[in-house]
Parts: sequence; C-alpha cells; structure tokens
Amino acid sequence: MIAGMHTKSPGEAAVLLLLVGGGHAHVSVLADWIRHGVPSGVRAVLLTPERHLRYSGMVPGWLAGQHSSDDGLVDLAALAQRAGVELVLDRCTGLDPDARLVCTAGGGTIRFDIASFDTGGEGRAAALLGDDPRLIDVRPIGAFVERIATLPAPARVVVAGGGAGGVELAFGMRNLASINPPPQVTLAAGSSGILPGFAPAVRRRVSKALARQGIAVVEADARIAGGAISAGGQSLEPADVVIAATGSAAPPWVRANGLATDAAGFLAVNAHHQSTSHSHIFAAGDVAARNDRPLAHSGVHAVFAGPVVAANLRAVLAGKPPPRTYRPRWNNLYLMNTGDGSAIASYGPLAAEGRWGLALKHWIDKRWIAQYAALADGA
Ligand SMILES: Cc1cc2nc3c(=O)[nH]c(=O)nc-3n(C[C@H](O)[C@H](O)[C@H](O)COP(=O)(O)OP(=O)(O)OC[C@H]3O[C@@H](n4cnc5c(N)ncnc54)[C@H](O)[C@@H]3O)c2cc1C
Repeated sequence: MIAGMHTKSPGEAAVLLLLVGGGHAHVSVLADWIRHGVPSGVRAVLLTPERHLRYSGMVPGWLAGQHSSDDGLVDLAALAQRAGVELVLDRCTGLDPDARLVCTAGGGTIRFDIASFDTGGEGRAAALLGDDPRLIDVRPIGAFVERIATLPAPARVVVAGGGAGGVELAFGMRNLASINPPPQVTLAAGSSGILPGFAPAVRRRVSKALARQGIAVVEADARIAGGAISAGGQSLEPADVVIAATGSAAPPWVRANGLATDAAGFLAVNAHHQSTSHSHIFAAGDVAARNDRPLAHSGVHAVFAGPVVAANLRAVLAGKPPPRTYRPRWNNLYLMNTGDGSAIASYGPLAAEGRWGLALKHWIDKRWIAQYAALADGA
C-alpha cells in the first residue's frame, strides 16, 4: 500500500486522483477509464490549460499542407467527460508534494491523495538563444501552430535545433504550403550537428535530403545578440523568422519542497513511473526523468508509458503496489517527414527513404488520433 494512502470504506470520502497535464501519456489513462470504468471510490480531476492536446508528430505535415490544423487534435474535454473525470482548464504553477496540494495559475489550489504529472517540458529558446521578436519557440506546440498560422509569409527562415523536431520543421518550412515561392531555410543544427544520437546512415540520408532541397546547414549553436542571429561566428541574417526546436526545460514548480528531480530539474521516477521520493506521485512524458536508465524526451516514450501509468494508477487506487514497469524497446521507428512527399525512416542502425515512408507515417499518426476520436465519440 502507498505510504499515507488507504482504501476508503463505504461512507468515507472518495480518494482524490489528480491528473496534471493532458499529455500523450494521460490520454491513455482516460482511455483506460472509458474502456474499463472508473475505479470505485475515486474522484478524478484533470488539470490542463487547453481543451485539446496537439499531436506534435503531425505539425511538420501541417506546415507542408498534408494535414489541416485540426487533424492532429485530441479532444481532452470529450475524453474526460466520457471517462467521468472532472476537467479544470488551468495550469499547475506550484506543488507541495507532502501537503498534497497543487496551485494553479488561476489562483486556486487542488488537493489530491494521488497525483500523476504529464505536462511536458517548457520552451527554453529565449534563455538559450537570446530574446528577439522574430523568435518562435516550438513549445508549447499549440501556441506555435497559432503563431505560424497568422504569420506574414516569411522569405527567410532560420530553424535552430538539429534534433528530429528541428530537422522536420526545417523541411516543413521549406515546403510551406501557404506561400509560393517557398522560403529560404537555414538549419542551425548546433555544435553536435544533425540528429545527434541517430545512426550515421540516418544522418547521411537526412543531410542529403536537406542539400537536395536547398536547406543550408550550419553545425554550430545559434545565438541572438544585438538584434542579429549568428551561429559559430557566421551571420544568419537576414532572417524574417527564427524557429527554435532546442529541447525543453523542466517546469520550475517541479523543484518543489523536496520532490526528487534529476540534475536538470525533471521529476525523478523509477521504472513504474513513480516518484523516487513520493510514492503517491507518478509522472510520464517529457516532465519525467527515469532514475534507472536514460530515456530521451520523445513522444514515443510518453505514448508507450501511458498504459503503464494507467495500470499502476488503477492498482494503487485499489491499495495495491504498482504492477507494471515501462521497458523501452531497444530501437524505435522514427519517420521523419521531408515535406516533399517522402519520409526518412530510422530504425536503430538502419535508414531508408521513400513515399512509402510518408504513407506509413500518416497511417500511424492518423490511427493514433482516430482511436481517441472514436473514444471521445463513444464509438
Ligand atoms: C515539431 C516536433 C515534432 C515532433 N515529432 C515527434 C515524433 O514524430 N515522434 C516523437 O516521439 N516525438 C516527437 N516530438 C517530441 C514530442 O512532441 C514530445 O516528446 C511529446 O509531446 C511529449 O509528450 P508529453 O505528454 O510529455 O507532453 P505534451 O505533449 O507537451 O503534453 C503536455 C500536456 O500538458 C499540458 N500542460 C502543460 N503545462 C501544464 C501545466 N503547467 N499544468 C497543467 N497542464 C499543463 C499541455 O497543455 C498538454 O496538454 C516532436 C516535437 C516537435 C517539437
């Protein structure tokens, strides 16, 4: 049984479960409750600022005109309603893990017996690059889409960040559906170059595709100083827009009152995705850091950890220990949309490219969205 937690007997107040953040893992918890029913004696609240979760994997395809802006949305409000979970549209800004309280941006406090966090990380572009009115952080992804949708057509774009997100955004901006001719794009990939951590064969294929599409690559960290952007001493001006996909920082409220974190301030969890310091707290997705193994901040891990968190929450709400651990596969399939009708596939040391790759990516992405649309519709 969880420390400080007990199963309620009839007549006692319900156990309060607080889900903070409607991210890629928590939608699995909502799905579990819709499919298998709410655990008895439990009152659950989902605290999240937006009615929808935006599936980031479809954003580069939206830039390239392959999807409409609504295609990658999961309706959290409809899922919560069908799951019997109360929805609070607000943002967590503070946490007291011992008092079991969360503070919100709206000035409220929410008490919990058990809490689970799936809020993602926070954008850190301005802190890393320097502030500038042309700078658009890819996080939060919903705000990014809104800003790009209302942007005057840019002629020259700099994308900062050489990870999979930055690479796909460079391709997406180069193939921007809304303007003709397409913008000139420079990818400031950072000093580790394109796709650090990916196999040489994948990096070679992506480099070739970037060159084929006329996307300039600078393998140095971008900086903005005195109103001008440069990388490795090379000016990247003129630039109409600077898009930053430079990874995420831990939300500041995680470093709260003795809650265990990793060195970067992300919420430290074990293989059950349970806090290493507070057993009544769980976390998954980009806000969490595993203490038993490194785990990239990547949507695929949030998605795969979701059912594990769902099963563990169901168990601990019944007063049992968390039964499941998340063991990532050795390799995951990444399909990088090149914006021109193809995708580059990466699987461990292997790389391949073709229109089939994009068809497969669309099929996987749309199937993921469709399962939640069906649950939200009551299908
Ligand atoms: C352009 C781009 C493309 C990408 N493509 C891929 C891909 O193809 N495959 C892949 O594996 N990864 C991809 N990623 C990475 C992926 O987006 C993230 O790893 C993933 O979104 C993390 O999921 P999450 O559930 O942790 O957080 P999120 O998806 O960010 O969800 C967090 C949720 O919490 C809410 N929230 C935020 N702050 C608070 C708060 N303070 N209080 C309450 N709620 C809050 C948000 O509104 C949101 O609903 C991509 C990233 C980018 C930028």
